[in-house]
Amino acid sequence: MRNLLNFNQQQLAEYFQSIGEKPFRAKQLMRWMHHFGMYDFEQMTDIAKPLRERLAREASITPPSVSLEQISNDGTRKWLIDTGAGNGVETVFIPEDDRGTLCVSSQVGCALECTFCSTGRQGFNRNLTVAEIIGQLWLANHSLRQDADYGLLAKDDRIISNVVMMGMGEPLANYDNVVTAMQIMLDDSAYGLSRRRVTLSTSGLVPAMDRLKEDCPVALAVSLHAPNDKLRDEIVPINKKYPLKELMAACLRYLEKAPRDFVTFEYVMLDGVNDTLEHAKQLLQVVKDVPCKFNLIPFNPFPDSGYETSKPDNIRRFRDVLMQAGYVVTTRKTRGDDIDAACGQLAGKVQDKTRRTERKKIMRITPLEIAA
Ligand code: SAH
Ligand code: SF4
Repeated sequence: MRNLLNFNQQQLAEYFQSIGEKPFRAKQLMRWMHHFGMYDFEQMTDIAKPLRERLAREASITPPSVSLEQISNDGTRKWLIDTGAGNGVETVFIPEDDRGTLCVSSQVGCALECTFCSTGRQGFNRNLTVAEIIGQLWLANHSLRQDADYGLLAKDDRIISNVVMMGMGEPLANYDNVVTAMQIMLDDSAYGLSRRRVTLSTSGLVPAMDRLKEDCPVALAVSLHAPNDKLRDEIVPINKKYPLKELMAACLRYLEKAPRDFVTFEYVMLDGVNDTLEHAKQLLQVVKDVPCKFNLIPFNPFPDSGYETSKPDNIRRFRDVLMQAGYVVTTRKTRGDDIDAACGQLAGKVQDKTRRTERKKIMRITPLEIAA
């Protein structure tokens, strides 16, 4: 049985053609499925009855199932999505005055092992399918609309106005599925979001950034977190493969096609690790050729992380150095504290396939650690 949530409009048109139907049916179906959030073919009134019956026999519209929904005191919501075999990922909705942002996951866990990230600590299980990625938007819309119908929310078709690929996983490590899901987000017959309102965050997979620029150039955020290769090698290990100089060059290339004329650099503030004035000055040197904004993220703690959040004064001083150099800097507010919905706290349920815990036990006694 085909799950039609896995298809973008073009793939759906090819499917219709393969069963002898007109390709424009794809547009109608995208509207029903995504714009109106319907899963019952029988209710799709502008599709002829024989085709509706055929679809019901051959295909389905099956979103992933939600195993838990939590609502924070500040209105932030978090859904735990069941991805089978004891695994789960999380999706977070963050309402603000002028927009509603959905933070979407792309993988069960993550293989990249950034040292300050709870997802990274849990290991990697598998990539999400297109249906599981776009399904998060489908489900969140469904749930928010239901509450609007009950009068619990303002009735507003555009409750989700922005999507950020900043949940669990490295989106560019699940390239094909993430790009197809984003094409559905941008499709006027589906969610109709503009490229500026969809942001992909990456830890810096340079070749995939170059592909994204051609295939689906949405707004780009890059997780920088360190102002020199020595420190970045340590806390964002993918830096050993794609060091800062190459990463900055890739950012510049991306801007040729990006919907915004800047890259957002994310920088997690770790007390005593990357938050001194010297680090801020080095950072200015590293990014000097790339039009950018900064988003400072106070570290969100999780058990046994080994890190502390930078002191507020140090964050302010760090920010001031960047601002005085003329940059726009935002310091991210922590939302959904009471339901562990902040950046880097998304835990879901990951059955690690990389045996990370065992490897970490061995790594614990490396000479470097003893020296530290
Ligand atoms: N894998 C992608 C996107 C997911 S993480 C990436 O790394 O960019 C979204 C953001 O949260 C990234 O900037 C990530 O580095 C940051 N983050 C991870 N763990 C964090 C933590 N414990 N506290 C604050 N931010 C964290
Ligand atoms: Fe993966 Fe991003 Fe976490 Fe690094 S910060 S481990 S890339 S999810």
